[in-house]
Amino acid sequence: MSNLSTVAYLVSSVLFIMSLRGLSHPTTARKGNFYGIIGMTIAILTTVANPGVLSYKEIGTAFVIGGLIGSVIATRIQMTALPQLVAAFHSLVGLAAVFVAAAAFYNPTAFNLGTEGNIPLGSLIEMAIGTAIGAVTFTGSIIAFGKLQGFVSGNPLVFKGQHFLNLLLGLSIIGLIAKFCIDQNPEFFWLIVAASFLIGVLLIVPIGGADMPVIVSMLNSYSGWAAAGIGFTLSNNLLIITGALVGSSGAILSYIMCKGMNRSFFNVLLGGFGGEQAASSSGGEKDDRQPKQGNSADAAFMMKNSKTIIIVPGYGMAVAQAQHALREMGDLLKAAGAEVRYAIHPVAGRMPGHMNVLLAEANVPYDEVLELDEINRDFSDTDVAFVIGANDVTNPAAKTDKTSAIYGMPILDVENAGQVFFVKRGMASGYAGVQNELFFRDNTLMLFGDAKKVCEDIIKGLED
Ligand code: NDP
Repeated sequence: MSNLSTVAYLVSSVLFIMSLRGLSHPTTARKGNFYGIIGMTIAILTTVANPGVLSYKEIGTAFVIGGLIGSVIATRIQMTALPQLVAAFHSLVGLAAVFVAAAAFYNPTAFNLGTEGNIPLGSLIEMAIGTAIGAVTFTGSIIAFGKLQGFVSGNPLVFKGQHFLNLLLGLSIIGLIAKFCIDQNPEFFWLIVAASFLIGVLLIVPIGGADMPVIVSMLNSYSGWAAAGIGFTLSNNLLIITGALVGSSGAILSYIMCKGMNRSFFNVLLGGFGGEQAASSSGGEKDDRQPKQGNSADAAFMMKNSKTIIIVPGYGMAVAQAQHALREMGDLLKAAGAEVRYAIHPVAGRMPGHMNVLLAEANVPYDEVLELDEINRDFSDTDVAFVIGANDVTNPAAKTDKTSAIYGMPILDVENAGQVFFVKRGMASGYAGVQNELFFRDNTLMLFGDAKKVCEDIIKGLED
């Protein structure tokens, strides 16, 4: 049986790797998901078939309750709320790591880890590190959830001596782990948990609006390492492999996003070093200037007579679910002879790949969808930039205002196009809370309204 389960776990691990590979490109993402589902099914069946299982009653009950909650959430969740859902789920992985470690510490015999007070050093180290990472993941993810859901202010919360406090806490946790491994005293276990809970909060509160995507993927990575920690405690190889896969892929994604956002990986990892300046200017100050306003008929007329159009989708397109109407509009413009392409910023929307998924759902051809690096230079040779529900990702303050929360982030240079249309409902700022100077430029026309409705009106104008 043990050989059989080892082989089954190996098959699951390979399927998880194939799943990650598949998920790296929109054309293979469905297949990747499928491999992941098969891998997880094999993993669960193998685990519950383990002869060491004492009672199926508890497992079955937890399975039904958890499955029901998961199914209800999955069917009800809005795509725009996925990042906070992911953050909430990460917090549960972190908490599970703490509970498993506590269970193993208080009842080591049940986990084949020796007897109370005589747990081997290696197991104690694994337990303590797993607990610390799990606890950091738990509170860090709750703060991230609060920020993304709007319960906690999205502005960076910075105070004097913050980094010194983090350093002190970090060193204390290392000291407590050493003490715990020597004394096996429950007091030190709970002190590790408390200090890690605190540092989880302190690492995430200074992260400002525009950097949240990096933090979500960083917490994803932490939750993977926490799961690997549980794997060590439970001597479950599959959990160790899966945790390491999640941990390393999350870390790689965070690194890629940091590069895309022009942020230092270590600054974000260590709790937003350098966020102090940005904190002071991210309030989204009120502006009484009036922008130039256009309407759908103007936009339809101008775009029908344009040769090159770049569409820049953002979070508002996702809110309005405007992708199908947008694709229809693009098709009509192509039929009228224009070259239509889509420019995707690495953090447009509210999760990595958000815009790609929505455009793929609306059957926009992949070759029309280009990343920032591939298309940014082309704006200067483009007749129309059609910005639909995007804001921060076009904001030139990222290049010019050193005190801005988004300073340093690369942006899509829509301002270089001959004419810029901004489709949004009003003058609200974007996620980072920074006013966008482009709304007041001479070559900008604001098209106020819900993104889907505006596209439908433009379609009518194009068909007339
Ligand atoms: P923004 O959040 O900057 O702007 C979205 C704009 O859409 C708003 O200004 C809003 O203006 C408009 N809008 C909202 N609803 C509608 C609607 N129904 N119809 C038309 N317009 C609408 O989005 P971007 O995509 O430009 O930037 C993403 C931001 O989110 C970045 O700051 C990024 O860092 C952050 N972020 C990204 C994550 C990711 O992984 N991609 C995760 C977490 C945060 P108005 O209300 O006036 O209509």
